[in-house]
Amino acid sequence: MNFKNSKTMYEEAVKYLPAGVNSPVRAFRQVGGHPIFIKHAEGCYIYDVDNNSYLDFCNSWGPLITGHRHPKIISAIEKQIKHSLTLGIPNELEVELAKRVIDKIKQKIPTIQKIRFVNSGTEAVMSAIRLARGFTNRNKVIKFEGCYHGHVDSLLVKAGSGLATFGQPSSAGIPKSFSEHTIVVPLDNEEAILEAYKKYPNDIACIVVEPIPANNGLLLQRKEFLEFLRKVTLEHQSLLIFDEVISGFRVGYYGAAGYYNIYPDIVTYGKIIGGGLPVGAFAGREEIFNMLSPDGPVYQAGTLSGNPIAMAAGIAQLDLLTDDLYKSLEEKGQYLENELNKIFQEKSMNFRVIRIASIFWIYIDLDHPPRRADEISSESMKIYAKFFHHCLNYGIYLAPSGYEVGFISSPMEKNDLDKFLDAVRKFNG
Ligand SMILES: *Cc1c(COP(=O)(O)O)cnc(C)c1O
Repeated sequence: MNFKNSKTMYEEAVKYLPAGVNSPVRAFRQVGGHPIFIKHAEGCYIYDVDNNSYLDFCNSWGPLITGHRHPKIISAIEKQIKHSLTLGIPNELEVELAKRVIDKIKQKIPTIQKIRFVNSGTEAVMSAIRLARGFTNRNKVIKFEGCYHGHVDSLLVKAGSGLATFGQPSSAGIPKSFSEHTIVVPLDNEEAILEAYKKYPNDIACIVVEPIPANNGLLLQRKEFLEFLRKVTLEHQSLLIFDEVISGFRVGYYGAAGYYNIYPDIVTYGKIIGGGLPVGAFAGREEIFNMLSPDGPVYQAGTLSGNPIAMAAGIAQLDLLTDDLYKSLEEKGQYLENELNKIFQEKSMNFRVIRIASIFWIYIDLDHPPRRADEISSESMKIYAKFFHHCLNYGIYLAPSGYEVGFISSPMEKNDLDKFLDAVRKFNG
């Protein structure tokens, strides 16, 4: 495959944009080489500036559950463009999208009673944490090693030494004091959480977790562990925040909360909820949301929040998410998982697929799917880099990092998935 125009464009891009990108993982640093530049996308295919086409498993990192440019989403946006772009004044579509979330999800997850829209997943989690602190009048937050919650200062924190100690900032530019209220614990470990509560019995505002951790491999948790989080937070009057920016509307309309049948106090959304436009949201118990400004003392605001174009896209997106759609995605996921694992075994490759609904991840050199971030070796990432470039050359766009998951979109049919399988058959790692 020829990547000549992408290479030229990348050389131009780095003159203006740090590393040529606006979000680090796009830069191909984990897999080597330079990124490709896309000029068009349709359904499950993307087309680059060298006229190569790829089956897209990145799907903008999660939002595009119905693929690129779904006609219903495009027409909803076109219709709204004739009326307004942004207003900063209430509009009907905010209420419509809120209804799509609350009216439906509340039937199954009764704690989802009020919602506020923002513009990204990061903003949603940042605001949810502030709200949890304001509501409980406590300072500390428990987060897990291997869960990502966007680039919020106080959550860009890695574990310190020992269980349940203060974290260390995992990025430069974050004062150490900002991480002093963040306790980082391993996933899949009840003891560490009990220890944190023993240390700070009255100062833990919330536990924030990706109930389906999908930003550091796919670290599916035991249901009992997630149930434990619900139990321990209730016992200590802390809040439980499910960060469902990836899992919301992905593993079913009710997200991970519905999948595991656990009722968190606050849920954060992003990605799918915007139908491809920038939307985030946080939702939860009314009593908690009464604390949010202007009703309550917890400040939160946004110039573009709830803008009618993004709301129109979100509404159109959620209306596409029928039971049949999820059923069909599950079947496609099952097919891909089975066939990939078969090929890996036939070829004696030490690769396996772990999957939930339409999220899959390939883990390498492990005899079981990991539940904790520290089980994944950096050595396996080098093997993934080769696999990635092999697939790219066969017109398959996987995430350019072995820590990232793949997403199946509804336009993918069996013959599309077979293209991926054929490419894998030809891999000589
Ligand atoms: C993507 C993601 C975020 C951040 O969302 P952005 O829209 O990129 O700010 C937060 N939490 C989780 C679980 C995510 O997957």
